[in-house]
Amino acid sequence: MANTDAVVWPVVGHQWAVELLYPLAQNGGSGPRHAYLLLGPPQIGKSTLAWAFGGALLCTSSGTRPCGNCRSCQLMAKGGHPDMRLVQPTDREGNVDRANGMLRVEAAEAIVHEAMLRPLEAKYKYILIQDAHRANDSFANKLLKTLEEPAAHVILCLTANDRAELLPTIVSRCQTLELRPLPVELIAHSLESRGAADATEAQLLARLSNGRFGWALAQLQGKQNREQREEDLRSLWQLTRASRVERLAFSQSLSGNRENERLFGLLALWTGWWRDVLLAQAGCLDACNNIDHQAEIQRDAQSCAQVDVQAFLYTLRRVEGYLRHTVNTALALDVLLLQLPRPMTQQ
Ligand SMILES: [Zn+2]
Repeated sequence: MANTDAVVWPVVGHQWAVELLYPLAQNGGSGPRHAYLLLGPPQIGKSTLAWAFGGALLCTSSGTRPCGNCRSCQLMAKGGHPDMRLVQPTDREGNVDRANGMLRVEAAEAIVHEAMLRPLEAKYKYILIQDAHRANDSFANKLLKTLEEPAAHVILCLTANDRAELLPTIVSRCQTLELRPLPVELIAHSLESRGAADATEAQLLARLSNGRFGWALAQLQGKQNREQREEDLRSLWQLTRASRVERLAFSQSLSGNRENERLFGLLALWTGWWRDVLLAQAGCLDACNNIDHQAEIQRDAQSCAQVDVQAFLYTLRRVEGYLRHTVNTALALDVLLLQLPRPMTQQ
C-alpha cells in the first residue's frame, strides 16, 4: 500500500484481509467487486471485518476510510445506516436465531428488492448476509438472481463457516477470503491491552480460543461462561470415572441438543481437554491450553492409556462431523460416551 503504514481497522488480526479490502473503499481506488465471501470458524472475526469493510465503503471521508467521524460512520456505529442491510438467520416467527435459525426466502426477496433501489446517502448499498451456510435452498436460489445480474451500486458480503456448506454457484460468484486462526499471543495481547482481562486470564482464554478472538472476548462477558467451563470440566472428569449406565444417561441428556451451539461447544471443550492430556503424555505439558488445570491434566495423563485418548480424539472428530450432517444423534453420542477414556485401574 502506498505511503501508509499498517492500516488500522477496528479488527483484531487478519491484517492481510484488511489490506486487501482497504484500498477498494478508498477514493480513487479500483472499487470493490460485487460480492465477497468471508469464511472461517465461528467468532473468528468475519462479521467484525465485514462491518469494517461496510463502514469503509459507505464512509464519505476523502481520507482514510472508515473515518469514524462522518455522518455515515456515525450511522454505522449506531447500526442504522439506510444503505446498509444486515440479513441474519431467523426462526419461523422471524426472530433472529443464529444458532438454529435459517435464512429464508422472504429475506432473499427483500435483498432482491433492496438491490434494485438506488443508495440513499452513500455510493453503494451494502448488504451483509451473516451465516450464509444457514441458507435454505429457496433463499440460495433467489439470492443467485441478485448475484447473477448485479446492479453496479450493490455490494454483497456473505459470511459462512465453511465453503463446503454453500452452493458452489454462490461461492463461484464471490471473491472468497478465508480467515485463519489468530496466534495465541496476539489474542492474549489484545485482551490485555483492552483491559478486558489480566495477563493470566488473557493467556488462558487465548490458548482455549483456537485462534478466535471473538470467542475469547465472549468468554469475558459475564461470569456465566467461565462457570460453565468449570462445570463442564468437572462433569467430564466425573464421566471419565463413571459407569457405562451413567455415561449412557449423560448421552441421552445431550442428544436432545442437536444443532445446538452448546453441544458443539461441549465437544470442543472435550477435544481441547484430551488434546492436552495427549500432550502431557508426550511430555509437553507446557504446550497445554487448559493451563489453569495442569494438575488434572497430569492426573488423566498418568491414569488413562495413551491409545484410548488417541482413539477418543479420533471418535470425537468423527462424531462431530456426523452431528453436523443429521446422522442419528443419540447413537453417535452413545458411541462417543462409551469410548471416553477411563483410568486404567478401573478397567
Ligand atoms: Zn466516515
